[in-house]
Amino acid sequence: MVSDPVASVNSVLSGYGTTIFTVMSALAQAHGAINLGQGFPDGEGPDDIREFAARSLLDGPNQYPPAQGIPALRQAVAAHNMRFYDLSVDWEHQVLVTSGATEALAASLFGLLNPGDEVVLFAPLYDSYLPIVQLAGAVPRIVPLSPPDWALPGEALAAACSARTKLILVNSPMNPTGKVFAQDELSMLAELARRYDAYLLCDEVYEHLTFDGVGHVPAMTLPGMGERAIRIGSAGKTFSLTGWKVGYITAATHLCAAIFKAHQFLTFTTPPNLQAAVAYGLAKPDSYFTTLSRDLQYCRDLLSDGLQNIGFSVLPSAGTYFLAADFSLLAPGISDVEFCRRLTIEAGVAAVPFSAFYGPASTGSAANPLVSPPEAQLVRFCFCKPPELLEKALARLASHFGGG
Ligand code: PMP
Ligand code: GLN
Repeated sequence: MVSDPVASVNSVLSGYGTTIFTVMSALAQAHGAINLGQGFPDGEGPDDIREFAARSLLDGPNQYPPAQGIPALRQAVAAHNMRFYDLSVDWEHQVLVTSGATEALAASLFGLLNPGDEVVLFAPLYDSYLPIVQLAGAVPRIVPLSPPDWALPGEALAAACSARTKLILVNSPMNPTGKVFAQDELSMLAELARRYDAYLLCDEVYEHLTFDGVGHVPAMTLPGMGERAIRIGSAGKTFSLTGWKVGYITAATHLCAAIFKAHQFLTFTTPPNLQAAVAYGLAKPDSYFTTLSRDLQYCRDLLSDGLQNIGFSVLPSAGTYFLAADFSLLAPGISDVEFCRRLTIEAGVAAVPFSAFYGPASTGSAANPLVSPPEAQLVRFCFCKPPELLEKALARLASHFGGG
């Protein structure tokens, strides 16, 4: 045993606990709660895509595929970019397959950043961003967005950017807010990236999950951004197969080459059979993609209306699996963490506290103070569930809060 087990392990990671998704799912399971916390669909995913994967598992090959990804999937990603966004991409040099968007993000950050580089991020932030930026030795500059519309604060953003900015990380559609960045906001980010000669790392895993006719616009389609934007997608979200962990990066040749260097040492590759099935999936007809978002929009409306009737103030969600709800009228004065704990144990419905999306206290420093969660008492509910299950969850909440 080493003399000081705490001092001997990685000092960035020792500032972090177990992710909130694992914590809330475990609590939900322990108490038989309906899990509207961690974001995953309840079903098994499309039959035809799983059949394709199963056949490919039996027929092979099952040995290491090329580290960049199998040609069929890289070609399918390039074709998908052209079909949906009119983006012309060279599949051999501008597409990289990764083990989920999580690895795509890590490989991009490790592949592009040097210690001391500054990275601009927006809070609330997806949980893996901050630790990976820190592990890369880079300095996070966190710009808080405010409810209810989470608009980009022009002045704070301009103040966070400087000649030291190497990269801006943006997630649209955005987890956990459900915000879809407007065209003028993307233009503002593109303009800053150009001005400071920075990269724009675009987490677009929810690209096909937008509602009310709002379309997804990759920042990569903006003028001059083909050279600066790195676009990340995930089969987990696009095909409701979150356990598969197949992600894909689209970026300019020189960026893809730099990111590949990190990818080869992180995971090297991704199961070939799942890659083949995702290639098949990306070529599915338009009706697949429109049905996916239409069905999810129905679930969003069902949960949103139900929560509103129970006494939550529900914020608008234009995309993702999630909506934010303010519980201050139902439980004034208690923390979001305590509210989620009680909701899971006493009402039988799990949600995720918004404060989990602001990084741990260890993130802050005098020069770069921690960004606090908003005043509003917010929790995140996941609505990518069968309507019957959402109705059951709403009935439990109504009976708990005395509204039904
Ligand atoms: N980014 C965001 C914003 C997410 O919500 C998720 C959720 N899983 C990921 C990345 C990770 O995607 P994957 O499961 O493909 O690693
Ligand atoms: N992206 C999912 C969410 O936000 C969870 C991913 C995970 O559990 N790591 O809930």
